[in-house]
Amino acid sequence: MSVAKTVGAFVEDPFGELTAAQKAPGLKQRFPDRVLIMTTDRCFERCAHCTRRWILGRTPTVETPEDLARCVAYVRRHPKVRDVLLSGGDVLMLPDARVAELVDAFAALPQVEVIRICTRAPVSRPSRVTDRLARMLAKSGKVWANVHINTAAEAVVARAAAARLVTRGIPVSSQTVLLKGVNDTPRKMLALLRALSAARIRPYYVFQCDPVAGLERFRVPLARAKEIERYCAERIGGLALPRFVADIPGAPRKVPLDLL
Ligand code: SF4
Repeated sequence: MSVAKTVGAFVEDPFGELTAAQKAPGLKQRFPDRVLIMTTDRCFERCAHCTRRWILGRTPTVETPEDLARCVAYVRRHPKVRDVLLSGGDVLMLPDARVAELVDAFAALPQVEVIRICTRAPVSRPSRVTDRLARMLAKSGKVWANVHINTAAEAVVARAAAARLVTRGIPVSSQTVLLKGVNDTPRKMLALLRALSAARIRPYYVFQCDPVAGLERFRVPLARAKEIERYCAERIGGLALPRFVADIPGAPRKVPLDLL
């Protein structure tokens, strides 16, 4: 399949999350070493650029002890899985006790080395990230926090919540979506990366907006995306420089923009 050819197609479920990627109710797998757990379909806000806009509410979430047991059993049967994403929706919409239950269930598997808390709470509801929650998340020594941050202003808002996590030893990283009209200038992107490092949030990925139906207006042309990447790379050290990638249906990895 030509990777480049797939970039233009905008559909409701480009990654087959409602179909092929769903391996057990509430569990999705696209890559051999990681699984995504749909912990809830609720979020603190409804992002206009949400790439799961057609998925939330139409796919099972892990609700019952039996659901969770089935997901844990799936991971156990697939020993290559070492990374579990607790996502949705936003896992921090759930009460602390439920978050702890989910973390503990997967952390107990020796094969699982990383549990990612995928959340926008540090931006949308910073007070949700309490010191108590941070202490609880730190217990297993396997938890990382992945926060969705798109602008320098959001990074500033997230700073206090990120500090509570980092202080307890939880690495915090950011996933950003390159969005037309939001952060699609070299200066805005550089300001975001600087604000993230100032907040001790490691910039991890900057994604081309996924090819999801309804998001066409947010897509930044590839040449522009590369220009933004180049501008940042020439002005900031590697520690604060994320990988600029596209998530392309059928590709075996997140594809660096350089290869497109
Ligand atoms: S927080 Fe994530 S899943 Fe929730 S609406 Fe925003 S982009 Fe979608």
